[in-house]
This record gives sequence, structure tokens and C-alpha cells, in this order.
Amino acid sequence: MSEKFDVIVIGAGPAGYVAAIRAAQLGLKTACVDAFVGKDGKQALGGTCLNVGCIPSKALLDSSKQFYNIAHNLPVHGITVEGAKVDLGTFIGRKDKIVKQFTGGIGQLFKANKVTPFFGKGKLLKNNEVEITGNDGAKQTISATNVILASGSVPIELPFAKFDNKFIVDNAGALDFTDVPKRLGVIGAGVIGLELGSVWKRLGSDVTVLEALPDFLSVADADIAKIAFKEFGKLGLNIKLGAKLTKAEIKGNEVALTYEDKDGAHEVTVDKLLVAVGRRAYTDGLLAADTGVKLDERGRIVVDEHNHTGVNGVWAIGDAVRGPMLAHKGSEEGVAVAEWIAGKAGHINLDTVPWVIYTEPEIAWAGKTEKQLKDEGIPYKVGTFPFAAIGRAVAMNEAIGQVKMLAHAETDRILGVHMVGPGVSELIAECVVAMEFKGSSEDLARIVHAHPTLSEAVHEAALSVDKRAIHKGN
Ligand code: FAD
Ligand code: AMP
Repeated sequence: MSEKFDVIVIGAGPAGYVAAIRAAQLGLKTACVDAFVGKDGKQALGGTCLNVGCIPSKALLDSSKQFYNIAHNLPVHGITVEGAKVDLGTFIGRKDKIVKQFTGGIGQLFKANKVTPFFGKGKLLKNNEVEITGNDGAKQTISATNVILASGSVPIELPFAKFDNKFIVDNAGALDFTDVPKRLGVIGAGVIGLELGSVWKRLGSDVTVLEALPDFLSVADADIAKIAFKEFGKLGLNIKLGAKLTKAEIKGNEVALTYEDKDGAHEVTVDKLLVAVGRRAYTDGLLAADTGVKLDERGRIVVDEHNHTGVNGVWAIGDAVRGPMLAHKGSEEGVAVAEWIAGKAGHINLDTVPWVIYTEPEIAWAGKTEKQLKDEGIPYKVGTFPFAAIGRAVAMNEAIGQVKMLAHAETDRILGVHMVGPGVSELIAECVVAMEFKGSSEDLARIVHAHPTLSEAVHEAALSVDKRAIHKGN
């Protein structure tokens, strides 16, 4: 007889491990199966996010920012430092230590919450049985009343630029370079390409980003994308728009790239190539043929608004299903599904999921862009406020960018907030709270914001919706 659980979660990324902990908190006997192998060859819980995504990229972004600031920001404050150097071993080692701390932390949280971890590849069989194949090939089967699929995503590989993990790398490779590449090519000006491109640019790489689409960062609001594009240019990122990579050939110790734009074919040679053209839901080997779980045209697990697959007791969450591929979106789906399973009122609102890009300046938004409102024929008002008029931002020498708020023309309900500038990764939270409570721009305008803080830009943008910003002309 196979061991029986109330809940089995397949995948221990931010979607799966959070679902498992919440299910266990609710008194359900819970197992979590994960196959991720860390740098030390042992099981590493936490999925893409903790091992090769959110956490390590932020660690390197922060380290590289410290280094960049020495030459580019400190002199303005009257501080000069001669001979600053980066020791790449320490730089990468710090990141690895943080990763280990957090992946190990999940093991401890599992222990504290009595979640049983299994190390191996999980496959859903029919009748909610899960076959686990260990690294040594040994198989065991467990079963549960409910199975939550949280198998995440993997990088998309271009057929003409296959990863060799030495010269042509994915996100994991670009987090572990052993030397600063003299010339780095980045394919795709999406979130991952921009963040990792920034890391290596700040350390001195000559970075060329090729983006097939003619518009920069088309997921973001166009005004915000325009400001960001200009700022990234100042950092020295060479971003070529409407430039589609068509060939990448490793020649000796270099990679020869061919890309096409409106003027025809061009060639560029780089020392390393990061391919960051998006991620695909990962379901390889996850489902036996007779489970009844369906995939959509993009290979994502089909779910309803409650993350249920339509197969009795089988749910799916995170990057493996529709919606933005963001850690916090998956985590909140995990909590909601655990609560639905326990008969409670789970909640997830995909309309207020915040997006953050941790570049310099940072970009953050929630809700609809101005273009989306126009396309959908929704009447709106706009309020904006520049960080150049925010005392704290000027004192920090980071007075770049703006907050843009979009509110319904008649009801004043906040429909979207878009920001580029200092600390906006934190500022967006206030707007998400307001939007989740169906707040209006007037609600934010009437709330006292501490002075001098960056949050005053949100306050002033809210005032500006009604043409009554204090510190700028309306
Ligand atoms: P994953 O994190 O991909 O985890 C899935 C886990 O399931 C993995 O451990 C995998 O090995 C395991 N698995 C898969 N199939 C099986 C199976 N059959 N059996 C056993 N185990 C299996 N998001 C943010 O919100 N903020 C950020 O700053 C951010 N930065 C990022 C930076 C980079 C470089 C990258 C690559 C991604 C970043 N993301 C960020 C995205 C974020 O990492 C993902 O949205 C998130 O990890 C998805 O969580 P998940 O649990 O759905 O899947
Ligand atoms: P994201 O999905 O946010 O990670 O962004 C990936 C980006 O890669 C998208 O903006 C795509 O347009 C871009 N992209 C995809 N294929 C190519 C290609 N062959 N050359 C250049 N850019 C590409």
C-alpha cells in the first residue's frame, strides 16, 4: 500500500512550497516532491526563484550596484574611492551563500510545519497517485486526496542558439560567470535580460541587447518604458530594438551573432551570450497519459479561476498555469488552493498582481496600462509626478523617473499605477493595497504621507489625477 496524504504538492518553488506549508498549517497531512539539485549535488528546495531566479539575481544586482555607485554616484556626494575592484569569487560566493540560506530555510520550515519532503521527479498517475523517481532511479508511489501541480517553468531555448552553458547560457549560467565577459550579448529585453544585462554592465561588460519587437518593454506602460529606455542608455546598455537574432555560432572562444532589423542582416561578436527570450511552463514527464489533465496551446496546465484542473482533486499553480510568471503570484495561488482544499474561502486577484523590474532605476506597476484602457474604451484620468520634485529623491541623488496614476474618469477608482524611479519596488505596495480595496485616487490623496519620503511621489500623483498636485504645475 502506498503512503496516503491529504495533499501532495509536486514542485517546491514559491508556488509549491508555500502551498505545502499553508496546507500543513490547516491540519492537512502534506507531502512535497521536488527534483531540483543544488550546486552541491543535494536537494535544493525553493525552485527557480530561490536557486536561479529572484533571489540570486537580486543578490548580484545589489552587489553590482554597490560597485557601480563607487565611480558613478559617490563623487557627487564628495566621496572618491581610488582603485575599487571586484573579486568575482566573493561576489558570486555571497550570492551562493544567500541561496543556500534560503533553500535550507525551506527545509526547516517544512520540518516545523510537518510537511514531508520527497526528493525526486514526481509523475501524476490516475486516481491521484504520484510516482516518485529518485536520482538513483528508484521508484516509489504515494497517493493523496488532492494533488497540487507546481512544476514551474524553464527557459525557452532558441533552436539556432542552443544552450551549451559555457558560451551560450540561460539565467542560471549568467548568474555564475567566472570572469566578467568583455562583450556580453543578451537576447530579449524582457525582465530577465534587463536585470542580468545590468549586473554585468555595471561590472564593466560591453552589453548589447537584441530585442525582436520594435517597442521597448511593451508589457509596461509606454511612458514609463520610454523613461526607462533613456536611463538604461545612460547606464551604457546598448539596446537594439526591432533586432531579431537569427543565428549564433560558437567560433573558438567567441560567439558570432547574426541579427536582422529593418536595414537587413548584421553581425556582432560577443564573448558570452545570454538567451532570455522568455520561459515556458515545464510539464515534461509530469503527467501520465491517462490523468485527464489538459495543456493549452502554450503547454500550460489548464485551470479554472480556482486553479482546479477539472480532474477530481487535481489543482495547478504558479508558472505552470496562465497568468504572469511571477513568484508572488504563484505563492498566493498556493495559499488560495490550500485554503479551498481545506474548505475555506481562498482568494487570489490576478488583476492586482504587482510587477517589479529591479533595474536602476527600478520599474514597478499594477493594474492596467494607459494603452489597455484606451483599447478597452474605459474612460480615465491621468495623474503624474516626477521624482525630480521629491526632496528625498534629490537628497539621495536619485531624482529620476515618475509615478503615473490612472483612475476611472467617472468613479475615480484607481485602475493602474506605473512607476519608474528610486525605491518603486516598495512604493507599489501602497497602490496595490488601495486597488485591492477598490480605492480611488482621492483616497490616496487624502492619506498623510511622511515627509520627506519617496512615497510623497505616490501622494502627489494621486493629487495630480484631480489637477491639485502641490509641488508641480497642473
Ligand atoms: P519554479 O520556481 O520554477 O519551481 C518549480 C519546481 O518544481 C522546481 O524546483 C522544479 O525542479 C520542480 N519540478 C518541476 N517538475 C517536477 C516534477 N515532475 N517532479 C518534481 N519536481 C519538479 N519573479 C518575481 O516575482 N520576482 C523576481 O524578482 C523574479 N526574478 C527572476 C529572475 C530570474 C533570473 C528568473 C529566471 C526568474 C525570476 N522570477 C521572478 C520568476 C520566478 O522565479 C518564477 O515566477 C517562480 O519561480 C515560479 O514559481 P513556481 O513555484 O511556479 O515554479
Ligand atoms: P520576456 O518574455 O519578458 O522574458 O521577454 C523575452 C523577450 O525576448 C521578448 O520581448 C521577445 O520579443 C524577445 N525575443 C524573442 N525571440 C527573439 C529573437 N530571436 N531575437 C531577439 N529578441 C527575441
